[in-house]
Amino acid sequence: MASIEQKRPGPRAATETMRAAVVEDFARPLVVKQVAKPVAGQGEIVVRIETSGLCHTDIHAAHGDWPVKPSPPFIPGHEGIGTVEEVGSGVTEVVVGDRVAMPWLGYACGNCAYCVSGWETLCLQQKNTGYSIDGSFAEYVKAYGRYVVRVPDGVNLVDAAPLTCAGVTTYKAIKVAGTRPSDLAAIFGVGGLGHLALQYARIAGGRVVAVDLHDEKLELAKELGAEFTVNAAREDPVAAIQKLGGADQAIALAVSPKAFKQAFGSLRRGGTLVFVALPADNTVELPIFETVLQGITVVGSIVGTRVDRREVFELHAAGKTRVITELRPLDTINESIADVEAGRIPARIVFTP
Ligand SMILES: [Zn+2]
Ligand SMILES: [Zn+2]
Repeated sequence: MASIEQKRPGPRAATETMRAAVVEDFARPLVVKQVAKPVAGQGEIVVRIETSGLCHTDIHAAHGDWPVKPSPPFIPGHEGIGTVEEVGSGVTEVVVGDRVAMPWLGYACGNCAYCVSGWETLCLQQKNTGYSIDGSFAEYVKAYGRYVVRVPDGVNLVDAAPLTCAGVTTYKAIKVAGTRPSDLAAIFGVGGLGHLALQYARIAGGRVVAVDLHDEKLELAKELGAEFTVNAAREDPVAAIQKLGGADQAIALAVSPKAFKQAFGSLRRGGTLVFVALPADNTVELPIFETVLQGITVVGSIVGTRVDRREVFELHAAGKTRVITELRPLDTINESIADVEAGRIPARIVFTP
């Protein structure tokens, strides 16, 4: 049990160093080098990283792809799992030795209308791990004690990493989509996100049609519970899904404007399109006429809250989900990014520092 009386070492000098993968310039590869080890301030903790997943967002961060850019030099990574090594003053949520997950939502104010209504992910004062604050592609990371989530014993360190972002993001997307028993959920893109999205759709009681361009990924989707698959390189997914009666929900996880349009076209009347993936091409054209006449809902879903993360870990500890990972040393970061961009990865790369 957590006790208020924590062993608190005196302030540590900020002279120790650690290895980290650093973005120094958006146009250049990351540099793995020695940097200063962080020191926990008030409300903060320092965590010794054991595993850290590679999310597409980290790649966009490293390339400076999005309208609001991080400021180099910075350390990406927001699927970090590790052990609390140091707690700053005022931290009551975790103790030294706890195993925790450090998500994209690294900090929120806790007080605004969004925070108090269960939408901390919309807080205007939020700080994002691996983007506006240094992330987990390092031996140590500093985090806010209030926004980390404990990893239960039944979840191993490697699976916990992708569950921290890919898991929670797709779990929330299925909640936002409102998938119910017998609904047909179309999952566009079976990668790090999609292979988990389809499992959550199944847990919600939905039937799943998975869409991807690669047969191996569609095989994986079948193995994980997809009832139907469509290879969009060979077959028009809109026609194929309409033949099944149309999707009640389409979850857009593939980072291509074409896939977003196809996801829209695959819906049945009254269906819901959920935007999740963030492509570097920021816009997609959708027809207003069909949206209105067919009563289509278009909704964006951004990561998930601490409650969502607890539920995701709970489901995994209960054996309800499978996470497909490939473990690699952090030194492979640049070739790993190239592999993800080329679609050569079965699901999720997880680094060890
Ligand atoms: Zn992510
Ligand atoms: Zn807030």
